[in-house]
Amino acid sequence: MQFRYYEVINLFELINIEEIMFDNNYEFTCVDRFLNYVKYDTQSDEESTTFPSDPKQLELSKDLVIELKEIGLEDAHMDENGYVLATLPGNTDKDVPVIGFISHVDTSPAVSGKDVKPQILKNYQGGDITLLNGKVIDADNNPELKDMIGFDIITTDGTTLLGADDKAGIDEIMDAMNYLVKHPDVKHGTIKICFTPDEEVGRGAEKFDVEKFGAKYAYTIDGGTRGEIETETFSADAVNITFIGKNVHPGYAKGKMINSLKLASYFMELLPKDRLSPETTEGREGYVHCTSINGNEEKTILKFIIRDFIDEKLVEF
Ligand SMILES: [Zn+2]
Repeated sequence: MQFRYYEVINLFELINIEEIMFDNNYEFTCVDRFLNYVKYDTQSDEESTTFPSDPKQLELSKDLVIELKEIGLEDAHMDENGYVLATLPGNTDKDVPVIGFISHVDTSPAVSGKDVKPQILKNYQGGDITLLNGKVIDADNNPELKDMIGFDIITTDGTTLLGADDKAGIDEIMDAMNYLVKHPDVKHGTIKICFTPDEEVGRGAEKFDVEKFGAKYAYTIDGGTRGEIETETFSADAVNITFIGKNVHPGYAKGKMINSLKLASYFMELLPKDRLSPETTEGREGYVHCTSINGNEEKTILKFIIRDFIDEKLVEF
């Protein structure tokens, strides 16, 4: 297994070093696994047209195959598209459907996931959390922190993403598989595992072979807070709109210049303000959300994501 024992221990002093060095039976905890996963830079790339969008994701995927095999999921492998697949055979005579657990290896393209330096806050007692770089996770804007009192909390140092989305999901699945293999008294049907690339750029399902996966029902272990289960998801689409202007030297621009930045902001003004935005909708209401504006006098690109629970409404937008 690719755990870097010394780094993990020296950084976090979570485990007694001698315990690991002299005890071959040392059992990795879910925290050990998680701290290992976040060391891999698996940021996906929105602009890329390859699959996976950035091959660096495969470094983690390859090591996940090794880990699954070590746990005892013998058929673990990575397919030609970078999906990690494995099976935990059932151990019951009951006729139960095959279920699947899915999570994704990539992290968001929005913020760097390279050289992640996690910090662990032991026995959180409430209040704001100040990260090493001075940024603050304030308790007022993050009410879910209230449910974490008494727990240990892992964050970044504030300079990168942590990558818990979705390395925590991988960790949970891996730990569950380890538990089930070690506790054959817990009866279960066949369980299929899949770790996908490129979820963050909306392409996680693109080359996912549903037939080959072979699960009747599957659960994505991702996002949200403890104890939360989502039973439906929205349909998603994206729109990029390019405004082409006409640039002329400002000194000679009268009657000639068409500023694409102004065209784009005029368009933004036309969008309904009281509804259809993530900040003004909730529950099953759809929305249009501008994620970036980039440009100059000559050319401006607006990027939008659109979400709705009813497919036809995506078209309407
Ligand atoms: Zn996710």
